[in-house]
Amino acid sequence: MADVSGGAPLLGEPLSIELANTRYAVRGNPREGLDTADHLAGWLRDVRLPASGVDAADLAAAVALRDAVRRLAAATVDDEPLPADAVDLVNRHAATPARWRELYADPEPRTVARSAGGDVATALSEIAADAVDLFGGPRRHDLRACQGPGCVLYFIRSGRREWCSHGCGNRARAARHYARNRPT
Ligand SMILES: [Zn+2]
Repeated sequence: MADVSGGAPLLGEPLSIELANTRYAVRGNPREGLDTADHLAGWLRDVRLPASGVDAADLAAAVALRDAVRRLAAATVDDEPLPADAVDLVNRHAATPARWRELYADPEPRTVARSAGGDVATALSEIAADAVDLFGGPRRHDLRACQGPGCVLYFIRSGRREWCSHGCGNRARAARHYARNRPT
């Protein structure tokens, strides 16, 4: 069966960090989790922002936003100024109205979900809004780049965790053990 998700890991991180982590690595080899429109559709479904009719323009927009978020994340963990063009791109997406609910009374009261623009534009707007909160708020101090060998993922630190996942923690401990016990 074809891999429709692109294989990007989902770590339960904030949406914008999950998007950043669609650039990932397997045993140190960089992987693109958003190689095709199908990958993007699969990833959006996995993060519960399902979209239909995902096309090449949607893919290009998602990858551009992803790369902007990665640059914001890199600057944040390195304590450097946020790149202005990445900030602008995030703000442009965040300014696109996303979803809201309307009250209907015809005559029985009910709510109706509405959104502006296409599914993908709506999803990218929600992800950008998450990026605004993350990079502009106190959680930015807890953003970490995983220290696992060859790993390129970001995560929000809780406790003293230095790794995105148990797998990376185990690999890092094994690498340290190997380095300590290697004859010099
Ligand atoms: Zn990792």
